[in-house]
Amino acid sequence: MSLVLVINSGSSSLKYQLVDVEQGTWIAKGLVERIGEGLSRLVHEVRDADVVEVDMSLPDHAAALELVLDTFDGVGPPLDGLVAVGHRVVHGGPDYREPVIVDDEVEQAIEEIVPLAPLHNPAALLGIRDLRRLMPDVPHVAVFDTAFHATMPPEAYTYAIPADLAAEYRIRRYGFHGTSYRNVTRKAAAFLSTPVDDVNLIVCHLGNGASMAAIRGGRSVDTTMGLTPLQGLMMGTRSGDIDPAVVFHLVRVAGLTLDDVDAMLNKASGLKGLAGDQDMREVRHRAATGDTAARRALDVYAYRIRAYVGAYLAVVPGVQAIVFTAGIGENDAALRREVCGPLRHLGIHLDDDLNRSASSAARAIDDGTGTIRILVIPTNEEAEIARQAQEAVVALRA
Ligand code: ADP
Repeated sequence: MSLVLVINSGSSSLKYQLVDVEQGTWIAKGLVERIGEGLSRLVHEVRDADVVEVDMSLPDHAAALELVLDTFDGVGPPLDGLVAVGHRVVHGGPDYREPVIVDDEVEQAIEEIVPLAPLHNPAALLGIRDLRRLMPDVPHVAVFDTAFHATMPPEAYTYAIPADLAAEYRIRRYGFHGTSYRNVTRKAAAFLSTPVDDVNLIVCHLGNGASMAAIRGGRSVDTTMGLTPLQGLMMGTRSGDIDPAVVFHLVRVAGLTLDDVDAMLNKASGLKGLAGDQDMREVRHRAATGDTAARRALDVYAYRIRAYVGAYLAVVPGVQAIVFTAGIGENDAALRREVCGPLRHLGIHLDDDLNRSASSAARAIDDGTGTIRILVIPTNEEAEIARQAQEAVVALRA
């Protein structure tokens, strides 16, 4: 059995999974919440065993990681013989195109990327630093959300701003959710019995954060997120695409500060901004009871996805399938209906019964008469990080 411990550090939370790479399944997983916010809580779950909960004060990520390791020691399973620790790092900047074994130099490079991802990378860096100290004998691998999009061509990743300024400040489209896209692309290719290097897809990763990717020959050629995860689709709390002049207007006319606008666009927009709630289930429930703001939010949400489907059909010749994944993509049949229903003229023919039948398996939900399949493929980012971390270690030893 090859075991990899996957770590996903947020600003005040820490998620982890012990993954059996061969099976692609978790052995144990957990979550520490409210780190540095008074009383923190650890929930540790071992497959086919009880869930353990610990409430205690954890001032920082180091304390949280020590508690996690103590819990593995005391409750199990033992962390002996780990192949690697895989760290999710949101932003890899322009240079990291593949997972990388972390040494002091890589740690330094991830620190230098922090200005590009101030909301996301600092926590990952803390997790890497603390765990390298606590587990010095295991290889630590950084797996970047941006890496899968490194294959985008310049015309897709270049913003039309002065080129010298963009180069100096590394401003370009990077794209995110790459670990999920890699995982789902491989599974979709297998489902379609197509070699992964030949598969052409439009993938919609619709979770709290949401983005789409255009996949040509198994590689990303465009994606909706940009320099940061704020661009593109409408999300739980993020606006997605707006005219950048909205920012100037809010600062000059509405008197907001730049920090106010930053917080508004990242945390108070999207479903939350339009409907008052960031959770899709809640918004859908409200729309069903006649709430017109919720209905408008759902319409905007689906419209934007459809518009990007159109854009990506123009970018990728011979699209074989549109793929839905993540919390909303996998579970919200009504949303899939709202996106695909009006796309019949493009050869996208939804089967309503297949769409409504709940399942956690990879499946097709088109009626077989169109030219483009519609697939629902569950994503598994932790299994993908574990797989890539193991591959990086094997490649190093070869
Ligand atoms: P994250 O980006 O945090 O990983 P997820 O992929 O878990 O997010 O997706 C969370 C979103 O999925 C939430 O908006 C939630 O309401 C939505 N969701 C989960 N289950 C359903 C469902 N059955 N119907 C509609 N939306 C759902």
